[in-house]
Amino acid sequence: MNKYTILVTGGAGYIGSIATELLIKEGYNVVIIDDLSTGYKEVLFETIPFYNSNIGNTTTLKKIFTEHTIDLVFHIAGAALVEESMKNPMKYYDINFSQGLTLLDTMLQFNINKIVFSSTCAVYGIPKTEAIPIKEETITKPVNTYGESKLLFENALKWYKKNCNLDFIALRYFNVAGASQTRCENHNPETHLIPLVIKAIRDTNYKLQIFGNDYPTKDGTAIRDYIHVVDLINAHLKAIGALIENKPHQSFYNIGYGHGYSVLEIINTIKQVTKNNVQYIFANRRDGDPPILIADSKKIQNELGWKPQYDNINTIIDSVVRLTH
Ligand code: UDP
Repeated sequence: MNKYTILVTGGAGYIGSIATELLIKEGYNVVIIDDLSTGYKEVLFETIPFYNSNIGNTTTLKKIFTEHTIDLVFHIAGAALVEESMKNPMKYYDINFSQGLTLLDTMLQFNINKIVFSSTCAVYGIPKTEAIPIKEETITKPVNTYGESKLLFENALKWYKKNCNLDFIALRYFNVAGASQTRCENHNPETHLIPLVIKAIRDTNYKLQIFGNDYPTKDGTAIRDYIHVVDLINAHLKAIGALIENKPHQSFYNIGYGHGYSVLEIINTIKQVTKNNVQYIFANRRDGDPPILIADSKKIQNELGWKPQYDNINTIIDSVVRLTH
C-alpha cells in the first residue's frame, strides 16, 4: 500500500468520482474538493474527506492544505460544455482559467508542485485531414471557448514550470465514456451522446437529435474517439508514477484509442447492444463542434507505458447500459 495523498478537484463528478474509486483501490489517500455545481453528493465516498467549495476559494484551499499533506493534485474540476461555452465565455474563463490559477498559486504556497491536469482534444480545434489521428505537436487552435480556456491553463502550466518549478502532466482527453463497477456517466445537464441515446430508448418522450448530417465523413455525422473512463483513469495513475516516483515533468499527452465512430455508428451499436430501436431526428450542427477528432496516443504509451484495456465500443456501451436505470 502506498501512502501518497491525492487531492481530486471535481471529485463529485463523473470522471472525478471514478478517479477517486480507482485511487482508493490502488491504496492512495484521497481528499476531494467540489462545489457540487454539476457533481452529485451521492457519488462521494463516506471515508473520503470532502470540501464543498469551488477551486477558486483560497480560504478552503488553505484549509485543505493545512489539514492534509497533499502530494499531488488531480485537477479534474471544470466547466466542460462546448455549446454553453459559446454562450457564456466568462464562465469558462473564470472556472477553467482564473480559478485554476488560484489553485496553482495556493498549491505552491504550500510547496505542492505536482499536478495532473484534465485537458481536452478541444485545444486542437478543427485539425486538417492529414493531421488525423492527432499528435500532441499538432497546432492548437481552439474553435470554442471551452477549448480556449483549457489551452490558456495549459500555457499557464508551462510558465509555472519555468518560473515556479511546477511539475505537470496535462492529459488531453478525447471522448470519455463508459462506467466503472459502481459509477457511471451522469452529467448535469446531460449533453453527451451515449447517455442521451440510452435515454431515448428508456423515455419515448425524449427526442434524440443528431447534430449535423452534412459533415465530410462517410455517413455525414461527426466522428469521435470514444475512450473508456477506466482506461482514462489508468492514464492518470501512470501520470502519478511519472510525477512522484520519477523525474520532474512537463508533458502533454493525448488519451484516446486512435480510431473513431460516427454518431450514427454509436446509435446503431447501442441498438444492437440493447436490442432496442432508437428514434432520432437530424438537426443543425452544434456550434463549435469539429467534424472528426481521433487521437494518436503513442506518446503516452511509449513514455509512460499506458496500455488501453477496454478498447471496445460494445464494452463501453454495455458498462453504461448496466448502470443506467
Ligand atoms: N451529439 C448528437 N446528439 C446529441 C449529443 C451529441 O448528435 O444529443 C453529437 C455531437 O454533436 C458530437 C458527438 O455526438 O458530434 C459527441 O458529442 P458529445 O456531446 O458526447 O461529446 P463532445 O464531442 O461534444 O465532447
